[in-house]
Amino acid sequence: MKFSVLTLFPKQVKDFLSESIIGRAEDKGILSIETIDIRDFSGNRYGKVDDTLFGGGTGMLMQCEPVYQAFSSLYDAEKESKPHCIFMSPKGSVLTQEKAKELSKYDHLVILCGHYEGIDQRVLDEIVDEDLSIGDYVLTGGEVAACVVIDCVSRMIEGVLPNSEAYEEESHMSGYLEAPQYTKPNIWHDREVPEVMLSGNHAKIKEWKRIHGLYDTWKRRPDMLSKLDISSEDWKKILDIEKEQQG
Ligand code: SAH
Repeated sequence: MKFSVLTLFPKQVKDFLSESIIGRAEDKGILSIETIDIRDFSGNRYGKVDDTLFGGGTGMLMQCEPVYQAFSSLYDAEKESKPHCIFMSPKGSVLTQEKAKELSKYDHLVILCGHYEGIDQRVLDEIVDEDLSIGDYVLTGGEVAACVVIDCVSRMIEGVLPNSEAYEEESHMSGYLEAPQYTKPNIWHDREVPEVMLSGNHAKIKEWKRIHGLYDTWKRRPDMLSKLDISSEDWKKILDIEKEQQG
């Protein structure tokens, strides 16, 4: 899968994504992540790509033409169809695991990052297919948000993680949060790993994880529970954990 990031700060994006799992996937050729510096398309020798806002208001707005030229440099409009273009924006729909899964089906995604006050609406109307936000807060630029999208989408692509179970069992994938996890040593600061984890009984471990995942969802993200159909038996088990925790 290929990602093309249109940005004024390519180094920020490259530096973040060249490390660890995503960096290795790129080295292996499973992913290709290119950054395009919008400033290279400024059309003037100062590299100026922004201007003051019409109608007043503080700050600077990125102009249409450099963004349009940067996007157009990505494909041959006569031979290829326009690649899917996402604009990182606090006005977009908020990224979810489900959305990331949907995006992982594309062969090529273009991610446009705004900076300063954002980008002139007219070029957005011309090239962008969807706006995506990473949460209800405002960042200084779309670069960190683009890295979040690329990271989250990439780990669902075959070969990036060691196996698909690695992400299929995780928080949000099944509609609820992941249960607590443990590794060696068995006892640390007098805290023991739950007995069932050491039992070797896979069915029991699976059930423990399912119920504790539901319990954590109830405690931490009750809003997620409304989408789940929890049986009265499961509720009883969840409340038993609560009693245990209180006791
Ligand atoms: N004036 C804009 C905010 C500009 S912030 C507004 O009020 O909507 C500058 C850039 O940061 C944006 O163009 C966008 O690309 C990025 N950005 C800011 N917050 C974001 C968020 N929550 N999710 C994704 N991108 C964001």
